[in-house]
Order: sequence, then C-alpha cells, then structure tokens
Amino acid sequence: MNKKHTSAEQPIIKIENVQKHFGRVQALRGVSLEVKKGEVVVIIGPSGSGKSTLLRCINRLEEYDSGKITVDGITLDTTENINHVRREVGMVFQSFNLFSHLKVIDNITLAQCQVRKRTKEEAAENAADLLKKVGIPDKAHAFPLQLSGGQQQRVAIARALAMNPQIMLFDEPTSALDPEMIKEVLDVMTTLAKEGMTMVVVSHEMGFARAAADRVIFMDEGLIVESAPPNEFFTNPKHERTKLFLSKIL
Ligand code: ADP
Ligand code: MG
Repeated sequence: MNKKHTSAEQPIIKIENVQKHFGRVQALRGVSLEVKKGEVVVIIGPSGSGKSTLLRCINRLEEYDSGKITVDGITLDTTENINHVRREVGMVFQSFNLFSHLKVIDNITLAQCQVRKRTKEEAAENAADLLKKVGIPDKAHAFPLQLSGGQQQRVAIARALAMNPQIMLFDEPTSALDPEMIKEVLDVMTTLAKEGMTMVVVSHEMGFARAAADRVIFMDEGLIVESAPPNEFFTNPKHERTKLFLSKIL
C-alpha cells in the first residue's frame, strides 16, 4: 500500500482529468479538482451535468475511464487501495439508504464492528454519542421507517461519521425532504463543516453554500465551468452558463 503523504499543502482529494462514459453518454469530460483538508466544496449544476458521477468516482462507487484520483495520498487503482479509501470516505445519499430491517443503533454499529473491528460495546457507545450529535438521542431503538425523513437522513449522517471518515461526500442530502426538515439536516452539516470536516456537497441549498462553503463549483455537461468562493460566485459569476443557471434557481 502507498504511504499516506497528505500534508497541509497537499490536497486530500486530487482529481486529474477524469473522464467517464455510460455507453455513448459522456458523463465526465475531463474533470480536474483539488480539495484541501478541511475544505468545504459545494457543487451545483443542472440535472445530468455529472455531479453524482463525480462524487461517486471519489470513493470509486463508479469506475472512471481515464484520468486519476488520489485520496489522502492513495491512488484509486488497486482493490486494496480502493478499499482503504472507502473506509476514509463517508457518503450520504439523497435517499438515505438505511437498512430498513435494522434498528437505528444497528445501522450505526454494523460497519464499525465489521470494518473497524470495534467491540459491540464500543460501537454502541460511539453510536449513542453520534445520535446525540445529530439531535436524536432517543431514537436508537426505532426502525428507520418509524422516523421522519429528516431523522432518517440524520441517522445516515451518524452512520457515515461512525467510521471516523476523513472526508464526507453528500449527494443532494436534502432533496427528498419536506421543507420543514431540510434545516435540521443542514444544521448538522453546517456544524460538521465548522468542526473542520473535509466535505464535498452536491446541493442546491444556496443558504448552506453561502454559510458553509469555502468554494462553490458549477458543473455543466460533464465539466467544471466555474469555481469560486461563495461571495464571489453569487455576486459576480463569470460565465454566462453560471449566470443563466443562477437566474433559474435563486
Ligand atoms: P447529476 O448528478 O448532475 O444529475 P449524473 O452524474 O447522475 O448527473 O449523470 C450524468 C450523466 O450520466 C447523465 O446523462 C446520466 O443520464 C448519465 N448516467 C449517470 N449514471 C448512469 C448509469 N448508471 N447508467 C447510464 N447512464 C448514467
Ligand atoms: Mg445527481
């Protein structure tokens, strides 16, 4: 295995000219992006622009055709390296993806025991702390479908955090939620961002982007069109396509 060698100056995620086809569809047309440790990057862009594909390539849920991705100094090439990186990268999906036949507590302890080799007690203690952190300490013994969407998504975040990831990826984490539940999830994400978690977030919640992002990226047709700190991005977008997109969502 490659040695970790991410230092303060080196990006913890380095994506170099990544291309990805699905049959004839070119989902990524040569995307390059570097994310520093502790940085929060929000990705926006129209449906089909490649946002999910890019996110999924970072932990190799999706294989890419060409280019290179390095996470914490480890290149996503061998199976061993891919497995290593997956342990360091938590992911939260639009559709929660909890195990519905398992109680909340078991959803959060499963991978801790199997992958991190923690004892049941250690894992359960950690899970209780995380449920407190996401604001639902009393839901450990509920089943996912007994919870609201916002609560389920907070369980999904707790489950990802239970692995002590170095990086968290969020793919439209609030898109499936009723409006009144969006804030409770964004609040948890904002707290994480403030604590210094490295985060790549696909989201059109511009309030979150303004409050928590170090950088906002606009993707269109498989390419990064524009990338800037939120203030600059929203007040002075450079590209016509960015302006047009912002005029539709703001
Ligand atoms: P976004 O998340 O920005 O909406 P995606 O990354 O999901 O975009 O999709 C980018 C393009 O790749 C779209 O044209 C989409 O239809 C296509 N695509 C994504 N996943 C698959 C797949 N598993 N099979 C075939 N085409 C896919
Ligand atoms: Mg998507």
